[in-house]
Formats: sequence, C-alpha cells, structure tokens
Amino acid sequence: MEDILIIGGGIIGSLIAYQCSKFHCNVTLLDKENDIANETTMANSAIIHAGYDPEEYTMKARMNVRGARLYASLCRELKVDYKQVGSLVLARNEEELNTLRKLAQRAKKRGINTEILNRSELLMQEKNLSDEVIYGLRCPQTAIVTPWKVAIAAIETAMANQVKCELNQEVIAIEKMEDGFLVKTQEKEYRAQMVINCAGLHADDVHEMACGTRDFEILPRRGEYFVLSKDCAHFVNHVLYPCPTEAGKGVLVVPTVHGNILLGPNAENINEKENVDTTKNGLEYIRESVGHLVKNVPWGEVIHSFSGLRPASDRNDFIIEESRVKDFIDVAGIESPGLASAPAIAEYVFENFIEPKFHFSKRLYFSHRQKNIEIAKCSDADKKMYIEHNPRYGEIVCRCEQISVQEIVNCIKRNCGARSVVAVKKRVRPGMGKCQGGFCEPMVVKILAETLGISPLEVDYNKKNSPVLLAKKGEDE
Ligand SMILES: Cc1cc2nc3c(=O)[nH]c(=O)nc-3n(C[C@H](O)[C@H](O)[C@H](O)COP(=O)(O)OP(=O)(O)OC[C@H]3O[C@@H](n4cnc5c(N)ncnc54)[C@H](O)[C@@H]3O)c2cc1C
Repeated sequence: MEDILIIGGGIIGSLIAYQCSKFHCNVTLLDKENDIANETTMANSAIIHAGYDPEEYTMKARMNVRGARLYASLCRELKVDYKQVGSLVLARNEEELNTLRKLAQRAKKRGINTEILNRSELLMQEKNLSDEVIYGLRCPQTAIVTPWKVAIAAIETAMANQVKCELNQEVIAIEKMEDGFLVKTQEKEYRAQMVINCAGLHADDVHEMACGTRDFEILPRRGEYFVLSKDCAHFVNHVLYPCPTEAGKGVLVVPTVHGNILLGPNAENINEKENVDTTKNGLEYIRESVGHLVKNVPWGEVIHSFSGLRPASDRNDFIIEESRVKDFIDVAGIESPGLASAPAIAEYVFENFIEPKFHFSKRLYFSHRQKNIEIAKCSDADKKMYIEHNPRYGEIVCRCEQISVQEIVNCIKRNCGARSVVAVKKRVRPGMGKCQGGFCEPMVVKILAETLGISPLEVDYNKKNSPVLLAKKGEDE
C-alpha cells in the first residue's frame, strides 16, 4: 500500500512528487503517456508571471505570487535554467494606460515592483516596438523557464529519493476501500491511502472515477504559436504583453531560455481534449495581433508552429481541495498561471492535505540531481577533456544545436530516461534547430534503438505506438 498516489506527471504532479520526496513517504506517480510533461506542460508560453495579473481573492493570485517567488531557488535546486528577463505590458491609448495604472496598484499591494515607462523610455529597452505603443508597465521580476525540463528534473530527483514513477499507466477506475483507494489502469492495480488528482485536461474524468459525480468540468482552450529561430534571439529582450482584457492575457512575444522567440497564443474554446492541431485562422490571428506590439517581425525565421490546451474549468479558478471523498484531493483547472504557480501549489498541497494526515519526517540524506553535460555550452578546455575521456562527446549528431551522441545516450540512461524521439528532443534538443530534425532524427532513432536494445522499428516518435519507421527496406508495410 502506497501512502500517496499521484495521477498525472505534468508540472503539478511532478512538483508534488518532488516535494514529497524530501520526506520519508511512499509515493507513486502514474501518467498515461510514455513521458513526463507530454500534455499542457509541454506546450505553453513558459513564463513565470510575476503575479499582478490574477483577480483579487483568487487561488490563482495567491499561488502565482508565492510560486513566482519560489522559482529561482527551485530552479537552482533542480539545476535547470531560469532567466529573469522582465516584462513590459504595452498600452496603445489612454484607456489602456488606465489599465496599466490599475495593474501597477495591484502589483504594489502584492509586493511586486513595477514602473510605468513612456515611449522614449520603452524604446531604450526594446528597439522593435510597434509605432502604436505609447506606454508600458515594466516588471523586472518576470522570468522564463523550460517547463518540461523543470518537470523532468523534479521527477528525476524525486526518483533518486525513492519516489516511483510509472509511465504508460492510464488510470481507468478508482474504488474507495475501507483503508484507502484501489486505482486501476489497463495493466495494473495500485493501493494508496491518499490519491492526488493532477490529471490536467482529464481531471474531471478522474474526479468522476473516484466521486461518481462531475463536480466540475474541464473546458479545453487551445492556444497556438509560431516559433522563430535562434538567429532572432535579440529581436526582443523582455516578455511583451498587450494590455489584458476580459478574454485573457492576449497574444504575446516571448523570448525563450534557448534564444528562440515565441509568438502567440490565441485562445479558442474547443470540445476535444486531444486536439493540438494548428489552424490557418489561429495563426493568421497571431500574425495580425503581434503587429500591435512589435514591427520588423522576421517572419522568414519561423521554424515551427504548435498549440497547447489550457485545462480551464467551469469554476474559473484553480480547484485545490479535498473532494467529497475523503483523502481524494483535486488539483484541477490549473490553467495559466499554473506553471508560475506550480511550486506554491505543491507546497500548499503538502502543507494542507499531506502533512496533517501523515506527519512524515524529513529525509536526512537527500540526493540532489547531477546536471547534464552540455557540450555546446562547455569551454574549449572542458570540451577537450570530455572528448578525451569519451570520444562520443565529440560525435555531433545535431548540427543546429551541437548535440553529441553521448549527451543523447546519457538522457536515455538517466532516471525517467527518454523513450521516444520527442522525449530526447525535450531533454537535449536535437530537432529544435532550424532543420527541425531533418538531419539528426535518423541518428536519434538509431541511438535510441542501440541504447535501449530494441529494433529501430520499435522506436516511437512521440506517443506510445507512433513508430518513426514502418518497415525494413524491401519489406511491405
Ligand atoms: C497556450 C498556453 C499558454 C500557457 N502559458 C503559461 C505561462 O506562460 N505561464 C504559466 O504560468 N502558465 C501557462 N499556461 C498554463 C500551464 O501550462 C498549465 O497550468 C500547466 O502546464 C498545467 O500543468 P498540469 O500538471 O496541471 O497539467 P498537464 O501538464 O496537462 O499534466 C497532466 C498529466 O496528467 C496525465 N493524465 C491525464 N489523465 C490521466 C489518466 N487517466 N491517467 C494517468 N495520467 C493521466 C497527462 O498525461 C498529463 O501528463 C499556459 C497554458 C497554455 C495551454
């Protein structure tokens, strides 16, 4: 019998698992996918919003402010990138300037530094601002991360401290027993005293399995993006937001940790929980909206487009509560600013539900994560040392991102290691560059097959049963 079973390995489930791993408790995390962070945590704007945007007296406001404060130290602990690039909310008329003033007041109340800048002050910070922009609210605290890397690093560390992580386990039924829960997947059964529902887009379905009723609904809202190549790294320096409206934060311009630029997202309510297609209308809307924030957009540098689904709920706030079934905890409706709030949500769940029930003692020996060797970031002397020690650090597979064979092997062999082409791409970036995997993908398939001791025909592109290769040369499909 586990103490705690966590359903869902996005940023929320992963950070709850990480928080638990600091204590002596038996925890298993289940995810239906073949990798951690394969749904909403994989496709979003990656911003650690400072916390002045959410309405007063909401869980979103409370968790965002606290989460943003915890991020820098969390990323240091997990040895993942965190860049405090700051943000500008841009106003194009007097009415929008009033909105900036309201946001500045709210920020002050929440202890967040902001200042209103006029156009000439803004142009000293950002040279490509649209001619329409007249004022901006600067917030130095806004930061960016790589969301899936935070989640993967949290799980790697949790696993090094006795947490179990089981992938390809879709929860299909939950029974309340006298002494806890019986949780069933297609293949296995798990028993646990407490179940934490972090199932993102499927949190309402998982809730219904345990409670027999749908006490809330998850209403997917799709957001689409363009990605610009790293050659545009200096197109903007800050996260650029338009003035927020009832409809949300709007279409943004966002620098990423690795030097790409994201343009998006739009916001479209849809009925399907798996539909991450991009659409002509959605992408056209982004092209048009971005023009209100910036000019000289290097559209010729678009290397990719994608979309993600916000797991919004009909309650319009985060749902973090014990359900009508004792010890079944919902952490649901975690739409934006869910990424920024995640460390605070994990802390809140631990302090309000886990600690009062179990009173676990703290681990005296906590195993910290070893950082990956990243050849592209090494000094010449370090590169030489690594290559002399292991020549596979000198065999470059991905020319765009300068990734070596050994870095890919390492990411397959680590805790919660990569099992698909996309899982390798999430960890070490082959395929994230201008060629989008055109040159390196066959090599990644070969390395996955060799390292895992399977046939290249068995290597999945992303989800389970998505083989890259359909047949051997000369064989029918
Ligand atoms: C377009 C967009 C932009 C955003 N931008 C930002 C931003 O800039 N800043 C910010 O703070 N937030 C942002 N967000 C919100 C943020 O991405 C989410 O709040 C966060 O990723 C939610 O994490 P999660 O763990 O709840 O969900 P997920 O990452 O979706 O994780 C849920 C997991 O549960 C698993 N699962 C589901 N059902 C089952 C089952 N039956 N059995 C087992 N496993 C199951 C899934 O496979 C999945 O891995 C954005 C979201 C979107 C879509």
